Order: sequence, then C-alpha cells, then structure tokens
Amino acid sequence: MQSSKPMPFPQAIILTIGDELLLGETLDTNSAWIATKLHETGFKVLRRISVGDDQQAILQALQEESARTDLLIMTGGLGPTSDDITKTVLCDFFHTRLVLHESTLQHITSLLQQRGTPLLERNRAQALVPEGCTVLPNPRGTAPGLWFENMQRIWIALPGVPHEMKGLLEEEVLPRLKQKWPALQAIQHRYVLTYGQGESQVAERLVGFEASLPENIRLAYLPGNGLLKLRLSAADSHALQLLDDYHQQLIALLSDIVVGTENLPYELLIAQKLLTKKATLALAESCTGGYLAHLFTSHPGSSAYFTGSLVCYSPEVKVQWLNVPAEWIQQPGVVSEPVARAMAEGIRQKLHTDYALAITGWLGPDGGTPEAPVGTVWIAAAHQSQTLTRRHQLRGDRQRNLVLSATHALYLLDELIRQTS
Ligand code: AMP
Ligand code: MG
Repeated sequence: MQSSKPMPFPQAIILTIGDELLLGETLDTNSAWIATKLHETGFKVLRRISVGDDQQAILQALQEESARTDLLIMTGGLGPTSDDITKTVLCDFFHTRLVLHESTLQHITSLLQQRGTPLLERNRAQALVPEGCTVLPNPRGTAPGLWFENMQRIWIALPGVPHEMKGLLEEEVLPRLKQKWPALQAIQHRYVLTYGQGESQVAERLVGFEASLPENIRLAYLPGNGLLKLRLSAADSHALQLLDDYHQQLIALLSDIVVGTENLPYELLIAQKLLTKKATLALAESCTGGYLAHLFTSHPGSSAYFTGSLVCYSPEVKVQWLNVPAEWIQQPGVVSEPVARAMAEGIRQKLHTDYALAITGWLGPDGGTPEAPVGTVWIAAAHQSQTLTRRHQLRGDRQRNLVLSATHALYLLDELIRQTS
C-alpha cells in the first residue's frame, strides 16, 4: 500500500550513560545494538550520545535532545549504587517524584532470595520509579525499564547491563513501539560488494549514476578488508519501490568488479556458491595460520562444504604433508608460485575435495627474500580441471596484510568457482 505523501521514518536518539563509557573502559556496545534494532524496526537513528554519571550532563542531554526526536532511549545509571542517578534526573526532567512500585519490589525480593543475597535498602530503592511512568518488568535483573510518554514523544530508560537491556528491548520495548507506530516499515538498503578497485576509482565510474539518484535514495561507499561495499538506502517510504531498480543499475554498471549483491561477508557469498554446486573445499594455510579456516567455520552450516585446513606454517610441514619437493624450499623458495600451486593441489588430493585454496607469504615485519620481499603473498586455487595462481604485493602491517591476503585468496577461489561452473 502506498500513500500519496512519502512517510518519513520516525526518529530516534540513543543516550548511553556511564563514566566508564567516557573513559573508554567499557565499549558502548549498547548503543550500537539498539541502533541496529531500531533501524530494523523502521526508526531513523539521528544520534548516539554518551554522557557520564553526572546529574547536570544527563539533564542537559535530555533537555537538548528531546525536542529533536520522536523517541529517546537511554541506558545505564539504573543500578543500586550511588553513581546510578538516572531516575533522579528523570524526576527532575519530568517534574515528578519517586514512588514505590509494589510488583517490582516483589520481583526484587524473590530474585535476591533465589540468589541467596540479602535485600538491602539500596535494592529496595530499585523498586522506586518516577511517578506516572510505565514500568517495564525486567526478569533478568533488579532494575526495571521505564517508559515515559508525553505529546507523541517517548522516552525509555533501560539498565546498562547488556543482556538485561537486550531482553527488555526485545520483549517489552519493540512490541510497544510497533503498537504505537503501526505503519513502521524497516528502512531498506541494497548492497553491492566489489573487489579490485578503490573507492575513488569506483566513485569516478558512478558520477553519472549518483547524479541520477533521486533525493530520497542515498549511496554510501564502505571500504574495508580490501573490498568496497556500496549501500543504497531509501530515505522514505516512496523510495522503497525505486530501490531495486537502482540496485540493478548499480550492479550492471560495476559488473566487472561485483562479487556480491547482498550484505553478507565475502566468505559466506562463496560458501553459498559451493553449496549450490554441492562442492567441497579444503585449505592449506601458511601465512594466514588458520584465519581463512576461521572465516569459513565461523558461520553455521560450514560443515556442508568445508572439510578442513592444514596450517602448514613451517617448510617441513609443507614438504612432509603436502609433498612439496624439499629442494623447492631453497629454490624457488617457500613463497613462490610452484609452492603455492603444490600446496593447493596437494591438499585437494589429500582431502578429496572439489576445490582447494592455498596461501604462502611474508606478512612481515620480518622475513622475505630478494625474489619475494616482505609483503609478497602467493595464492593458489585448485580444481581438478585447472589451478589458478596469483601473486600480491602487500604494503600494510602484519594484521592488515593478514586480512588483505585472505580477501585476495577468497577472490581467487571465487574466480575459479566461476570458471568451473
Ligand atoms: P549500570 O546500569 O549503569 O549500572 O551499568 C551496569 C553495567 O553495564 C556497567 O558496569 C557496564 O559494564 C555495562 N554497561 C553500561 N552501559 C553500557 C553500554 N552502553 N554498553 C555496554 N555495556 C554497558
Ligand atoms: Mg553505571
């Protein structure tokens, strides 16, 4: 159903409270998680703000941010200790006072009984809530969530403990928000994943496309791990219908560098192809030390195509387990095309798989030879019909080289899968 006027998405601000967040001691994972959930539900998150456990700072944030948004969700400061002051500030803000909430007191009493800890006055105080708010029961802890409504605006205070906050958000908050905004529609995005060209180069190719985009569709460039992800986003309900058209246009424009059209990690896109072909994969990893195996196996269902990886870090393991000729270790060297090829073919035969991927390289900072200086990586992808090999010269630090070499390896495997279909 499409109304004649585009519907803007309702807006949300997330305010996380706690000195530990400002010190960097605790990573503010709450606001990232809440942002994802709100986004999926159909809210446009305007801001994520953090303040310390400071009366004035919290009050000021509430005063400044409330006027800008339909929904303000805050976490933290609901605990039983003296630094937990969110409720008092909310009383100031809403000109109200704390009153005892009987069923919360009962819940706290029985929870502490179960835990075998005494009910202290400070625990009783957690059953005090600002008068007039709706109490959201928290079965996982002692601090309930608090819901305030005024003039079409909603404020919600949730405990800072991540699993309590998540439970409350999913079980209490989101269902109520969906009731409040029955027409909520998830904000939609479309993705294109590319390999092989940097963002400047791709942006040059997309000048005309970008100029042709309507105002309510946005394009974002998200480079990372040697890949470039492009995201098209609908800024209102009308744009939703146009998104697929522009997505198809984008795919066609970049067809030579597109490796995926969904928002999935590259290894998962490759896994899907292997599963479709009912094909299996084995790895022989030297410089990546099992990182590629980790990428594949970190997703459920990998056992359907992934058989195993040999971490053949030392030259001896390459020789002993993969039949790499011992004399090749000196010449042409462990980081060379023949060794990478022998590793891929060797592991494919050993593990009887359809495909095999092998990698050998110097990730730095030490190592390297005149023929293969630090940053040199040789990759081989093998299938019974052919073996592809490729050399890359990386220039990052060890960690970056690890991630980049894995992406290059995935691409070579992807290429081989395409060629053997
Ligand atoms: P509080 O509700 O303020 O007593 O917070 C309890 C605990 O939850 C803190 O000690 C933190 O470990 C954790 N926490 C609080 N806020 C956040 C946040 N924004 N992200 C992740 N963890 C948090
Ligand atoms: Mg706190």
